[in-house]
Amino acid sequence: MNDMNIHHNTDSGSNFHENHLCYMAAQGFNLEDPIEYNVLIEDPHYRCDHCGRHANSRENLCRPEPL
Ligand SMILES: [Zn+2]
Repeated sequence: MNDMNIHHNTDSGSNFHENHLCYMAAQGFNLEDPIEYNVLIEDPHYRCDHCGRHANSRENLCRPEPL
């Protein structure tokens, strides 16, 4: 009932791990679609505190930290 022990990063309104570079790179997205991938990372403003990747948008990182 009150088994709410998992806290998601919901402030962006998106929980989808699929949008995270960490996940996408693990799925080979960066090799599959390098142009699209490059768009996400070419002008990075955030760094993932979890995996160290850089991204343009915080929505693409699991633990975004401003650069
Ligand atoms: Zn990450």
